[in-house]
Amino acid sequence: MKVGIVGSGLVGSAAAYAMVLLGGVREVVLVDLDHKLARAHAEDILHATPFAHPVWTRAGGYEALEGAKVVVIAAGVAQRPGETRLQLLDRNAQVFAQVVPRVLQAAPEAVLLVATNPVDVMTQVAYRLSGLPPGRVVGSGTILDTARFRALLAEHLRVAPQSVHAYVLGEHGDSEVLVWSGAQVGGVPLAAFAEARGRPLTPEDRARIDEGVRRAAYRIIEGKGATYYGIGAGMARLVRAILTDEKGVYTVSAFTPQVEGVKEVALSLPRILGAEGVEATIYPSLDEGEREALRQSATILKEAATSLGF
Ligand code: ADP
Repeated sequence: MKVGIVGSGLVGSAAAYAMVLLGGVREVVLVDLDHKLARAHAEDILHATPFAHPVWTRAGGYEALEGAKVVVIAAGVAQRPGETRLQLLDRNAQVFAQVVPRVLQAAPEAVLLVATNPVDVMTQVAYRLSGLPPGRVVGSGTILDTARFRALLAEHLRVAPQSVHAYVLGEHGDSEVLVWSGAQVGGVPLAAFAEARGRPLTPEDRARIDEGVRRAAYRIIEGKGATYYGIGAGMARLVRAILTDEKGVYTVSAFTPQVEGVKEVALSLPRILGAEGVEATIYPSLDEGEREALRQSATILKEAATSLGF
């Protein structure tokens, strides 16, 4: 199975590398405006394949995306000094206006997997530009935030994160919503499990975990300028879910007709991922505070997309 990656910078190349380590992909094609960069990453990553999985990794132009089942879009521009968030968004929308039609021309059957930040707005931009059904344009959304939430709860409770079911919804960013009310471990509601485990969750613990999830990207960027390994691995996992028609539940971003009264906005909800992209969305039960927080998060995203004209 062939996978394309358009935008082979830090995130795109980390996704390609993670695909080589994870396997399940036959061929990865790296496309970038900077062809030399794409070629260098492809060559470097190819040298990892004898130690991992036999994924033929190469650089190419858009025509090399022909037959790709999934195309990751990680292309984008960096914020200029003094530039507002909206100006940056506008320039990234212009990048997508170049990229999306060319991807679809070469690989009309592909599921588009958007990684460029701010990912929810960029997912909405890609959806509008593509004319595809909403499920075929998937953003990485809050997959990492959900992973961090599960990992921090698991650490506190001293259980494996795989046994923790908890989700982060809404924006991948400041307004994201940690769904504490529905969190479960081994089928037991979180608070009851924590008590039984002798590791009750105090308000201070909850605040620490909330901060740990919400501020993680800021800390990483402060330390090393960018985040890419985590999201690269997450993208590889989503690619595998699509290629294997896995039907796993992931908090990915997708264009949503209506959420808490906010219409036509891309954001993360628990969604079933399979060969066609998002196959269904599961609307979780939330408490009053979480519903209001989700409504606010959706409103922020809707305003950003609207101000861009998407
Ligand atoms: P990130 O940390 O988000 O990966 P980078 O700047 O490392 O950010 O990567 C973004 C990549 O997107 C760069 O390699 C850049 O050359 C590429 N890019 C920007 N505009 C386009 C475009 N129009 N088409 C293809 N690639 C693009």
